[in-house]
Amino acid sequence: MKNKINIQLISISLLAILLTLTLTLGVVNTLLKEIAKDNLQTTAKILEDSGDFTKENKKNLPFSYEDLRITWIDSDGSILYDNDADESQMENHLERPEVKEALKKGSAFVIRRSDTIGKSTFYYAYLLKDNTVLRVAKTEDAALKLMKGILPLLALVVIFLFIVSTIIARVFSARLIRPIEELAHNMKEYPSSVAYKELAPFMKMIRDQHMELLKSAQLRQDFTANVSHELKTPLTAISGYAELMETGMIQGEEVKTYSQKIRENTSRLLALINDILRLFELDTEEQIEKLESFDLLELAEKCVDNLKISAQKHEVSLSCQGERTYITANRDMIYEVLCNLCDNGIRYNNPGGAVEVTVGAEEGIAFLRVKDNGIGIPGEHQGRIFERFYRVDKSRSRQTGGTGLGLAIVKHIVAIHHGKIQLNSEIGKGTEIKVSF
Ligand code: ADP
Repeated sequence: MKNKINIQLISISLLAILLTLTLTLGVVNTLLKEIAKDNLQTTAKILEDSGDFTKENKKNLPFSYEDLRITWIDSDGSILYDNDADESQMENHLERPEVKEALKKGSAFVIRRSDTIGKSTFYYAYLLKDNTVLRVAKTEDAALKLMKGILPLLALVVIFLFIVSTIIARVFSARLIRPIEELAHNMKEYPSSVAYKELAPFMKMIRDQHMELLKSAQLRQDFTANVSHELKTPLTAISGYAELMETGMIQGEEVKTYSQKIRENTSRLLALINDILRLFELDTEEQIEKLESFDLLELAEKCVDNLKISAQKHEVSLSCQGERTYITANRDMIYEVLCNLCDNGIRYNNPGGAVEVTVGAEEGIAFLRVKDNGIGIPGEHQGRIFERFYRVDKSRSRQTGGTGLGLAIVKHIVAIHHGKIQLNSEIGKGTEIKVSF
């Protein structure tokens, strides 16, 4: 980018220099012509005033005037005198533009290539009182000489300007790029008031993405650490119980108790692995597959049916109500959401409690609500229960077969369906979780 700006700035200055040069040369050229005209005009006037150009004095001519050519033309175009060529050999000059114009207007200045001399020549023709035309001419040599004198100086100026503009371009492009380079090197601490306001949205987007990446890397790291820890606990228990049995320290009736403990820990391990795998699956899923339209109430009834036995075990009543509500979503995933919420309502409840599922639509937005009158969630924990492995009461969660991942899975599924979760809970009174699609 820096090089590109550099090259562009240098190109612009080069163009400016060339344009100035062309203009200067043009102006010099015009000035030279003006000077040549003035000189020729003055010379013609002096020659006229000298009184030499009268037909009586004709034989006293010629004159020697260095590089000046003087031609005296009669009103019929015949040559009366020429200091550079033989008059008798010269053709009639009546049709020469400068002569023609001088005869008509009194004087004329013309530049053209002379056939006789073979160079560009400045001509000034002047009508004398006796109706003859006095023409003075100078070849371009003098003008060229002057130009040649100026050119080396101009070349020096061009080189100087080019060097100066290259240096300025370098300084400018470096200064232009500096804020962007500083931003790239220090994205985190760069002040939010950027040097270029056009860059502000771009910078905000990059910084947000950068922060998001850092956050998700941190989350992944935490998750890996948690997974290892969570898997280690039941495995250590299983290994310990098995060792006790192996060494014969447990015998008789106790074997049964310890075998049961091993089985419970294995079930916990399996549940954990299942939930972890499910989260991995959801993480890699970029868009929802198998979208279909179905009745949310019917799905809720199915879930309630399946959890009836578990509810009875916990002495909790489980019911479903509402109206037929059709949504387009991944049916299996929504079933998972329903079951996870109902399962929590049963597990974090008291004997004799109730869990109620309601399905419906408000202002055209479908919702499902799982409400229990269980133990409730303390205010300070409410913002964190959807985090992976976050549990309010670890032992209760473990005792009831929880993994700490149920609500994380719910949150993930609702997010990929662009839904919204609302939590309402009070200790001792119960919990209500509402999901809107
Ligand atoms: P777990 O497998 O431990 O139940 P979840 O992710 O489903 O994990 O829930 C996280 C935590 O939120 C639970 O450990 C529990 O402390 C709390 N929680 C979830 N649902 C309820 C509820 N209905 N009532 C009270 N506490 C709940």
